[in-house]
Amino acid sequence: MPRRFSAQEADAFFSRFQKRDPDPRSELEYRNPYTLLVAVVLSAQATDKGVNKATGPLFAKVDTPEKMLALGEDRLRDAIKTIGLFRTKAKNVIALSSALIEQHGGKVPRDRDALQELPGVGRKTANVVLNVAFGEPTLAVDTHIFRVCNRTNLAPGKNPREVEDGLERVVPDKYKLHAHHWLILHGRYVCVARKPICPKCIVADLCRFKPKTAPAGAMPEAEEKTAEGES
Ligand code: SF4
Repeated sequence: MPRRFSAQEADAFFSRFQKRDPDPRSELEYRNPYTLLVAVVLSAQATDKGVNKATGPLFAKVDTPEKMLALGEDRLRDAIKTIGLFRTKAKNVIALSSALIEQHGGKVPRDRDALQELPGVGRKTANVVLNVAFGEPTLAVDTHIFRVCNRTNLAPGKNPREVEDGLERVVPDKYKLHAHHWLILHGRYVCVARKPICPKCIVADLCRFKPKTAPAGAMPEAEEKTAEGES
């Protein structure tokens, strides 16, 4: 088993991301907590770019649960038909908009349990909304973060919840607000699924992934562990 990160190593790991990108942002486009929630629900097993393409014109007209209900499921389905699983997602967005109006006065609740009771909203989505919309130091684990945390051995785990709990323990408090975005962007652009770009990685010396030592170009394909459940 590779050695776990010490407190100093964890500090060094995140201090480099902070130095390079002090104020990381979500790549999902949104206008308010409601459109963020909808965008995150739509982003399951889809790319942020693909979601933004559909939600740009949609959110220009529809940015509240009331307007979403007025639009209706058929027209919503048509507006998001380029996104995977659009039928189920349209159903969920209409149902969650209804629930927001009936139970929360049309506002997105700043409460994990209340968020997770909404249709189509799991722990990862609730964590993203709490972090991005309300500035809470939550650590949402998507497929990129799951991979990075297991490869590096920063927070190994068999499922997203184990990784999230590991991150809670290892990420220094001062980095918790931005850790989600740093890790997601690192996984999306550097520590990519098939062949991580280790020679360009700013945390390569701290990472425990053995094949990273292979010369560039001769890197074997990474053994891939994938997250189950929410992506
Ligand atoms: S060294 Fe390679 S495997 Fe390790 S975090 Fe960096 S890109 Fe990922």
